[in-house]
This record gives sequence, structure tokens and C-alpha cells, in this order.
Amino acid sequence: MDIAGNGRRTSAGRRSGSFSASTFQRFLLIVLLLISLVLVSIFWGFYLRTTTLIRNQLIDQGRAFFREIVLNRKWVASYGGVYVLMRPGMKVNPFLEKIPGIRAVIHDRQGNALTLKNPALVTRELSELAVKDGLFAFHITSLKLFNPANKADAWEKKALISFENGVHETYAFRRNGAKEVFRYMAPLFINKACMRCHAIMGYHVGDVRGGISVSIPADEEAKAIVRNRWLLMMTAVGVIVLFAFVFILLSTCLGGRLRRAEEKLVKAATLDFLTGMINRREGLHRLKAEMVKHKRLRRPLSAAMLDLDFFKYINDSHGHDAGDMVLQELAQLVPLIVRGYDFCCRYGGEEFLLVMPETNTAHAGDIMERLRLAVEQHIFPWEGAALPVTISIGVAQMKEHEDTGTMLKRMDQALYEAKESGRNLVAVSAS
Ligand code: GH3
Ligand code: MG
Ligand code: MG
Repeated sequence: MDIAGNGRRTSAGRRSGSFSASTFQRFLLIVLLLISLVLVSIFWGFYLRTTTLIRNQLIDQGRAFFREIVLNRKWVASYGGVYVLMRPGMKVNPFLEKIPGIRAVIHDRQGNALTLKNPALVTRELSELAVKDGLFAFHITSLKLFNPANKADAWEKKALISFENGVHETYAFRRNGAKEVFRYMAPLFINKACMRCHAIMGYHVGDVRGGISVSIPADEEAKAIVRNRWLLMMTAVGVIVLFAFVFILLSTCLGGRLRRAEEKLVKAATLDFLTGMINRREGLHRLKAEMVKHKRLRRPLSAAMLDLDFFKYINDSHGHDAGDMVLQELAQLVPLIVRGYDFCCRYGGEEFLLVMPETNTAHAGDIMERLRLAVEQHIFPWEGAALPVTISIGVAQMKEHEDTGTMLKRMDQALYEAKESGRNLVAVSAS
């Protein structure tokens, strides 16, 4: 029989269980998730910020190179191109010869040949020099070409179309073989000086003539971005793992303590302090649970109300401690007489409620008679002598449409009859 809820969880335990301990662990988990989320956002923000800084630096470089080359072109264009002394092997720009009024080659008085270097040619030759020196490369290109060698690649073509739609610059990281390159491109506009050569192509001042794309080697920068991403990711994971570790420690240490404190609380809330039996609240809760089972399975259910006879007299003549001893002795004795699945609670001062599942009145009456006899014969030791103790019992079997309240009333009635009939008796309520 279960008197103290040992081996089984009490109904209060079931109702609250390890609720607060698991709530605490759930709370810690939510805090950990929130902290992880905040950390990931912070680290992601850092990553975006540093990537933007690196990219902005490359954009500034691209702009500076572009402006420098435009300045060069402007200078050359302001003179309508410049003539340079032709050295052996030097080729004449064949496209200049197609433009009316342009003299691609002239001779000085000494008969030396001089060839015209127009802005586009100067740009290309400067680019070749820059590439040779391992600096950066730039490419002058247009959607309407004089020179097919200046043909735009796919990325440049897209950029040129966007310039015609009002975009004023564009940039991107691109792979060039094994190397990472940062490409910057901005448009070139037709000015008065350009019209000398480009008027025949139908341009007007202010039109987008084409663009110059600048390619800056960006292997180091691309590696720095990847390195940065990994570093921040590893740091974020490291910090989250550290937090998780601290949270697991907290949750196991504090969670364990909390669970133990909770168990103590549940015991205090469900057990009777003096006898160690389950208390009235817990006993009634279990009786209701048994009633539900009884109604569903249509199995018999009986219960009994036990009351010590002339208990006041024991207290009065031997003292309160003697009365306490009797209550404790009785709590030890009852489980020895009844079955394992019966349960008994301290219902009131010297009253006990015993519930007997799967038992009809006849059987319950027999068991209670056995208990009454056992109490009568038991030795309740006090100051070297045995106190004479007897109990009266009222038994009832639950009826089909009955609730626990009316069943308890019938038990009380039967107990009253037992008392009235002389005490130390078992009275069974008619079923
Ligand atoms: P009856 O046979 O009619 O039941 O008489 P009774 O004296 O047992 O009943 P009564 O209701 O007159 O007295 C019950 C007594 O139980 C009164 C109260 O002091 C005593 N009592 C209640 N709780 C405790 C307790 O925890 N310890 C002790 N020692 N006495 C208690
Ligand atoms: Mg009483
Ligand atoms: Mg009594």
C-alpha cells in the first residue's frame, strides 16, 4: 500500500511535476538562442561592414584611376590629338585615316614623319604600359566602335547599356583565371573636342560615347574578405559554444537543485508531517482518479473511514505525545494489513480514509474487520506499558451514478453507526 507516495509520484507531483525545473531549462535555452541570434547578427554586421570598407577602398582606387585616365584623354583631346615622332616599327592608327580632315601622318621640314596619337590610342597605350608594370589595366570601349579591338566584353556591355540608362558607375569582383580582379567602370561623354572625330558617327555633345573599365588586381582583398568571414564565423561559433557550455553547467547545477527543492515542496504539499501518510488533499485527489477509472472500467471501488475511539481520552490521560505515537503506530500498521494498491490518507485529526480499488463491500468489510482486529491486538507502547487502542470503521462501495462527495457521506454515516453501536466495530453502508 502506498501511504507516503513512495515509489509513485504524487498527484501534486504529477500536476506540477518538475515543471519549474524544466521551465527554467527552457528559459535558459531561449536565452541561449537569443544570445546566439544577437551574436550572429553582430558578427554578420561586422563582416558586412569590413567587406564594405574593403570594397569602398577598391571603388575609390577605381575612381581615381578612371579620373586620371580621363584627364590624360582630355589633355590629348584638347589639342585634337598629339603628333609624335615616328620611330622604326611604329604603326599608324588605320582608323584615323578613315576620318575626313584628319591627317594621320605629317612631316616636318627636315622630312621626319610624325604620326597622330588620338585620345583612344593614348588610353590604350597607357593601359598596355600599366599592365606591363603589373599595376592595373584599363580598357576603353563603346557600343559603337571604330576599332574592333576595343570591343566590350559581356560585363562591359551590360555596364555600357546601364550608362545609357543614367547609371554613372558600376563595379564588381570578377575572376580572371586564377586571379581575383576588381572591375570599375564609368562612362565617357562626348564633348566639343570629341566631335572632331566622332561627329561622323552621329554623336552629339553630352551623349555617352562609351566607357573606360579599370581592372585592379584584388587577390589580397578577396582573400582578406574570405579570411575575415571565417575569422568572424569561428569567433561567433566559439563564443556561442562557450555560452552553451556555461548554460549547460547552469542548467545542470541550478536545474538539479531546483528539482530537488521542488520534490521537497511537492512532498510537503502532499504528505502529512506527523504520520508520513499522504494528506487529505492528495487522498481525495486520488480517490477521484480511482472513481474515474471505476466508472470507465465498471470495476468495483470501496473506501472506508477509520476513526480512533476515545482518542481524546488518550491525549488527556497520557499526554499529546502519546496521542502522536498512536497516530504514527497506526500509520505503520495499516499498510501491513491492506493490499499494495490500496491507499490511505490522514483525513483529519484522528480520522483516516482508506481507498480499496477493485473491491466490493463484502470484501472491503472483511479487510476492515481484519484491520480493526489488528489494531485491537497491536501493542501501542507507552512508558513501559501498552495503550489499549481501538478503531471504528465505516465502509461504502461506490454506486453507479454516485460521486465521491455522496460516497464519503455514506461512509461517515456508517462510521457514525459503528460509534453509536458501541465503537471498535466495522459498519458497512448498504450498496
Ligand atoms: P470518538 O470515539 O467519538 O471518536 O471520540 P474521540 O475522543 O476520538 O473524538 P474527539 O473528536 O472527541 O477527539 C479527537 C481528538 O483528537 C481531539 C484532538 O485533540 C485529537 N487530535 C487531533 N489531531 C491530533 C494530533 O495530531 N495529535 C494528537 N495527539 N491528538 C490529536
Ligand atoms: Mg473523529
Ligand atoms: Mg475519534
